[in-house]
Amino acid sequence: MKAAILSIGDELMLGQTADTNAIWLSGRLADVGVECVQRRTVSDDCAMQASAMRELADVADFVIVTGGLGPTDDDLTRAALQQAIGHGTGSLPPMLEDGVMLSRLERWFAERGRVMPAINRRQSLHPAGSEALPNEVGTAPGLRAKLGNATVVCLPGPPREMHPMYEQCVAPLLPVSPMKCGMVHAFGSGESSLAECLGDRMRRDRNPLVGTTASGSVVSARVRGRDQAASEAAIEKELSEIESLWKPFAFGRGSTTLAGSLGAALLQRKQTLAIAESCTGGLAGSLVTAESGSSTWFLGGLVTYANEVKRDMCDVPQTMLDQHGAVSEPVASALAQGVRKKLKADWAASITGIAGPTGGSDDKPVGTVWIGVCGPQFEAVRRFRFPGDRATVRDRAAKTAIALLRMAITDPSNRVSLLWEWPVDG
Ligand code: ATP
Ligand code: MG
Repeated sequence: MKAAILSIGDELMLGQTADTNAIWLSGRLADVGVECVQRRTVSDDCAMQASAMRELADVADFVIVTGGLGPTDDDLTRAALQQAIGHGTGSLPPMLEDGVMLSRLERWFAERGRVMPAINRRQSLHPAGSEALPNEVGTAPGLRAKLGNATVVCLPGPPREMHPMYEQCVAPLLPVSPMKCGMVHAFGSGESSLAECLGDRMRRDRNPLVGTTASGSVVSARVRGRDQAASEAAIEKELSEIESLWKPFAFGRGSTTLAGSLGAALLQRKQTLAIAESCTGGLAGSLVTAESGSSTWFLGGLVTYANEVKRDMCDVPQTMLDQHGAVSEPVASALAQGVRKKLKADWAASITGIAGPTGGSDDKPVGTVWIGVCGPQFEAVRRFRFPGDRATVRDRAAKTAIALLRMAITDPSNRVSLLWEWPVDG
């Protein structure tokens, strides 16, 4: 079954109201496995609304319209549905008054001690060929009609009225066949490179369908059965194949976060973690402690911002700081070793870099970050050059430290001798 959503209102077109109705409806449709094939937004223009209704009814089995059911002159959904029903017949179907809806409206006002304004009477009208749907929360009844083979349901715009009416009048009409889907997440390579690894898996005629999205440098592959022909096993096979194609960057599925995947690796090995951060000022520690249960594997983080603090808290030798500067390979290494020893952790990471926009030099341009990782019989230090503004550099640096730790812990064979897409040497 295919659905389409039509959002109505000038305020949506003018950017004054965010179209949360369409987002909410898309989510509810996806929950029951109904594919939403189009979403449209139309202004308070009756002819435009009528043609949108007809066009959507041509491509979908179910069209959900929201907004424009109020009593005012800019509420044109009823008239638009009348036009859409009458289209091609040479006449408009008459508007009929629904006695039940009229008395509901009058009662609604009476219960609030008010006399019903005359214009509200039009809310009890519906074009012949449609039926009115009761609204328990507000004044505007909904409408339901057939346009060709499609069912069109018009619901009021205010979300607090639309949501319960959807549950009451639309949800029961939809078949429930929850969409089979899954996600694989990766960090450390760009979306295009990771998409390239998938070969023709993203072809739009495949079932299951694969798509990618990137958010906060995390790239995700979404695997979704187009219909019931895609079995659970086919989805699972696709997910695990993507995981192996995305090695070593893939870190988890579904709701797993980067820090959560690190936590799971440590938990499984009953090992602990400490972090020393300079340019990220505690961001890595914050990401890690956002994970519930992190107290079992995260001992703590030190924000070693000033050189003296690196020296006094993590035993980074003053001579080393003087000779190489804080943003350097030996300091990143000493910082990681130092915090590991100080906090008696199994694993440790250090982050020291130049987040910008000031402080860069030819030698160490803005975005240069050294990250050290050490653990049992293991040590690696790598230089990165992260693009972007201060916030982006800090975010990527913190996430990269977490990703490197996970890789080092879970894959001792290649550990951190990885091909990392972000340029190492600028
Ligand atoms: P009313 O009887 O309140 O006039 P209506 O069905 O005519 O209901 P509209 O006039 O289109 O609805 O919108 C009323 C209010 O509902 C808007 O001002 C806005 O706050 C909210 N609304 C409308 N459409 C949407 C939408 N797509 N997403 C979120 N909110 C919406
Ligand atoms: Mg209105």
